[in-house]
Amino acid sequence: MTLKVDLRKFLDEEGKVLELTEQAKIVFQFLTKVVSSVSENIEQPLIYVDLNCNTRAIDLSCEGSIEANSTAAGIIEWHCDSCAVSGTIFNWQESIWDKEKRIIH
Ligand SMILES: [Zn+2]
Repeated sequence: MTLKVDLRKFLDEEGKVLELTEQAKIVFQFLTKVVSSVSENIEQPLIYVDLNCNTRAIDLSCEGSIEANSTAAGIIEWHCDSCAVSGTIFNWQESIWDKEKRIIH
């Protein structure tokens, strides 16, 4: 199972977070934490995100850890080290969760 997420779907035109259902809020918090952890450590081939698998939705019991990396195409891929779940996140760059330090000339 791969969950593909366009981060912009959670945002309005100004980049503000839309009104979300409780379930969507939990997923969104999980995803933004993945984005900020990966973008902070973008040069690392694999990032251990400080999240457990069961924090991505209500009623999950998997306590596996989440690992993630950014692909050359600028897509974040994440997966759980215990169960088969994985996902991709795109359109995260230049959102407020993008912590990558860019050099401004
Ligand atoms: Zn898991």
